[in-house]
Amino acid sequence: MTVGNIFATEALLADGWQRDVLIEIEGDLIVRVTPNTVSSGAEIASGAVIPGMPNLHSHAFQRAMAGLTERSGPSGDNFWAWRELMYRFLERITPEDNEAIAMQLYIEMLKAGYTSVAEFHYLHHDERGDAYANPAEMAERVIAASVTAGIGLTLLPVFYAHATFGGTPPNPGQKRFIHDVDGFNALLDRLMKQQGSARRIGIAPHSLRAVTPQELKALVAHLDSHDRRAPIHIHAAEQLKEVDDCLTWSHQRPVAWLLAHASIDARWCLVHATHLNDDETFRLAESDAVAGLCPSTEANLGDGIFNAPDYFLQEGSWGIGGDSHVGVDPFRELAIVEYAQRLKSARRNILHTPGSDSIGGGLYRQALAGGARALGQNVGAIAANCRADLVVMNSDDVALAEHAGDTLLDAAIFGPARQPVRDVMVGGAWAVRDGRHALEQVAFTRYRTTLKRLLN
Ligand SMILES: [Zn+2]
Repeated sequence: MTVGNIFATEALLADGWQRDVLIEIEGDLIVRVTPNTVSSGAEIASGAVIPGMPNLHSHAFQRAMAGLTERSGPSGDNFWAWRELMYRFLERITPEDNEAIAMQLYIEMLKAGYTSVAEFHYLHHDERGDAYANPAEMAERVIAASVTAGIGLTLLPVFYAHATFGGTPPNPGQKRFIHDVDGFNALLDRLMKQQGSARRIGIAPHSLRAVTPQELKALVAHLDSHDRRAPIHIHAAEQLKEVDDCLTWSHQRPVAWLLAHASIDARWCLVHATHLNDDETFRLAESDAVAGLCPSTEANLGDGIFNAPDYFLQEGSWGIGGDSHVGVDPFRELAIVEYAQRLKSARRNILHTPGSDSIGGGLYRQALAGGARALGQNVGAIAANCRADLVVMNSDDVALAEHAGDTLLDAAIFGPARQPVRDVMVGGAWAVRDGRHALEQVAFTRYRTTLKRLLN
C-alpha cells in the first residue's frame, strides 16, 4: 500500500533526534524532511520513526537450518563440521523451496525492522550440479521472494570455483555453487538487466579459498564493464584455519592479501573480518570498505570476536548481517556486538562512537551507514533523496514504554523488548502494519510444507 506523507512526533534524522517532523514522500523517495512543524494532513506515526536497517549479509536458504546443528558430535564440533551438514541439507532444495524459504525469511526480517537485504547467493544449480534451463532460475526466485515480501534487495551472485586456496578442484558438496568465469559473467549480464529502484546487482567472489587471484581480477573487470560502483562482497578471515591456510598459500593473512591485491575501497564489504591483526585493522578502516559483522551467526559458529574497539577508534565502516539467520533481529545483533566486548574485557559500555554517549544510539547509526554503503543503495537515513525505508517503533512494548531519543534505542537493543517494531515502510509502501505482514500466513504455510519435505 503506497502512502502519502508521514508526521513523526519524534524521528531520528541525519543530525540526530528531532521533534514534530514532517516526512514528505513522492513515489519511493523521501523528498523533504521538516522538523518542528505541524502535521499538515500527513499520517501521524504511532511511535518514534527511525530509518530501517539494511541487512548486509544473507544466505536465505540457511534460515531453514536453524536449530538443526546444535547437538554435540563425537569428533568435536566446529565450523567445518557445520558446513558439511549445511551441504547435505542444501542437496535437496528446489527452486520452489528456495523461494518459499526466502519469502518467509524476508517477511521475518521486515517485521524485525530490516528494510533491505544483501543476498549472498550461491545456490545456483540443480541437485546434480547442472545449470537449470534458465541459469538464473535460483537467483530469480530470490528476486521474486523479495518482491512478494516487499523488501529492498542487493543481489550478489556468488562466484565459487575451488575447494581451497591455490585453485584446487571443488569437492562434491559444492557442486551446486560452481561456475567458470564465462558462465558466471553470463549470469551477471542477465541479472544486471533486472536492476530497479529497490534492487541493486553486485557480485560476491565467495572467499579467497574459492576464487583464484586471476579469477578475482576477471570478475571485477567484467563487473566494472557494467557499473564501476557496483558492490563487491567477499567472506574474509572468519575462521583461524582460513587465516593459517591463507598464510601457507600466500605468506599473507586474508585481509592483508585483499588490501594488497584487490583495490579495496568503499564498494567492498569484507564479510566477518573476524581475525585481524593491528595493521589489518588500521588499514581496513582506512580503506573505507565495510566490515560485515554477523554477530549471532559468528557466535553460533564459534568464529571469534571482531576487533571492534580498535576498528571503532579508527572510525572504520561496518554494518550487520543475518548470515545463517540463527537471529533475525537487528537490535539483538547490535547487542551482541557490544556484549562480545564486555565479556572479553570484563568492562561495560565499550563501543563508543563519536558524538554519542549512548552505546545503542551510536551502534544503530553506524550500522545504518555501513549497511547502506555495503548494499550500494540510497537508504539508511531519513533525508531528502533517500528511499523511504522507515520503521515506526512500538511504544506499547513494555521495554520501550516512555523512552525517547537514544534511550529508546538503548532500550530496544539492550532491554527485553519482544516486539520493538510496529510499522515498517519500504520505498514509500507499508510492508508491515501493527506488527503484521499481509502475507505472513500464506508465507508460513508454504514454508511449513517446504520444511516438512526437507526434514523427512
Ligand atoms: Zn556468509
